[in-house]
Amino acid sequence: MEANYIVVRFGELTTKGKNRKLFTQKLLKNTKEILFEFPQLQYQLQYDRLYIYLNGANHLLVNEKLKTVFGIHSFSNAYKFEKDLDVVKDAIAKMINEDTKTTFKINTKRSDKTFPKKSQDINREIAGHVFHHVDRQLKVDVHHPEMLVTVEIRHDAIYVMTNIIKGAGGYPVGIGGKALLMLSGGIDSPVAGYLTLKRGVDIECVHFAAPPYTNEFAREKVFDLVDKLRHYTHGQITVHVVNFTKLQLAVYDHCDESYAMTVMRRMMYRIGEKLAIKNHCLALVNGESIGQVASQTLDSMNVINQVISIPVLRPVLCLDKLEIIDIAQKIDTYDISIRPHEDCCTIFVAKHPVTKPNVERIEKSEINLADCIDDLMKTALETAEVITVGA
Ligand code: ATP
Ligand code: MG
Repeated sequence: MEANYIVVRFGELTTKGKNRKLFTQKLLKNTKEILFEFPQLQYQLQYDRLYIYLNGANHLLVNEKLKTVFGIHSFSNAYKFEKDLDVVKDAIAKMINEDTKTTFKINTKRSDKTFPKKSQDINREIAGHVFHHVDRQLKVDVHHPEMLVTVEIRHDAIYVMTNIIKGAGGYPVGIGGKALLMLSGGIDSPVAGYLTLKRGVDIECVHFAAPPYTNEFAREKVFDLVDKLRHYTHGQITVHVVNFTKLQLAVYDHCDESYAMTVMRRMMYRIGEKLAIKNHCLALVNGESIGQVASQTLDSMNVINQVISIPVLRPVLCLDKLEIIDIAQKIDTYDISIRPHEDCCTIFVAKHPVTKPNVERIEKSEINLADCIDDLMKTALETAEVITVGA
């Protein structure tokens, strides 16, 4: 027997009171967009569940895609039956017959309280029928059954399920607004982007490139990463590629070498904030993690953060590198991130960057830049390329 339905459970959404309709509608929309390759699917949204009628689509292929939809707690492949217990009993016996497992449990949930039999009685009746109609040796195991058959008696139908697949969790992407991800091509920032999407916040990306010091391969890396991340959204992510070369050269011409990185990151933040506001993003997101490099000590972060007023989200702030790598491997960005190509930050890197930058010294450095900096920032913003991946 082939499962003909998928039953989707929402998890955290159930706690969201009067906003739940917004949530479930968004989840439905995102699910449809992520499953766009299966136009035959039919959707039925109910209060606490989403039912997807497969209509001939391969459930294994649909399962794989469904695992990337944020806001889904779990889902099951299911068989939908009319409300006739005899039909259900025969079908379950057939399912167990087709399997080779030796212990099972029937778990009935009766949300339709008008259904004439109680859950416990239904469990016993179905199990009895199974024993009569299955040829091999079978046992009921209520604690650790090899095969758990869930029977949900609802108002419209009876659903029978034999598996529970873990969903991606989190909230539907977009329900929490939009943020601008600073995407470098390294390991950390794509993971930061993934975790942001997971909390229901949609993203656009900004990448600072320094041609000819950074090349086409570095750029390709960024787009390959975005291509992975977009599978967790409605399919599209916009990337702003900012040409950072002139700004960077100016910083290195006018500032102390040990302060250049700090000043440069202040420039990135300033440009990031302007782009964010222009594109309706309510925060910046980056892959900073406390203490990982000189610019990521709390002292550095403090001084860098001072130049902007929108929030900066740092989803990997408290993770160890190995924990970040684990997530990168899970979301398939790791192999792309470790391809050896230069990032604009690594090219001009100082031998001894400061870990406790002094604000007065930085501000003095920036005064040296005063003549050119406004123009350079303006040009960088005006010439930013805007590319939507997946459009
Ligand atoms: P990653 O692995 O993400 O590159 P990192 O440990 O190399 O991070 P840094 O190079 O100090 O750290 O950068 C910290 C964060 O600043 C990055 O995670 C990213 O969000 C942002 N960033 C760095 N370089 C760029 C860039 N060229 N374009 C956009 N954002 C950048
Ligand atoms: Mg980096």
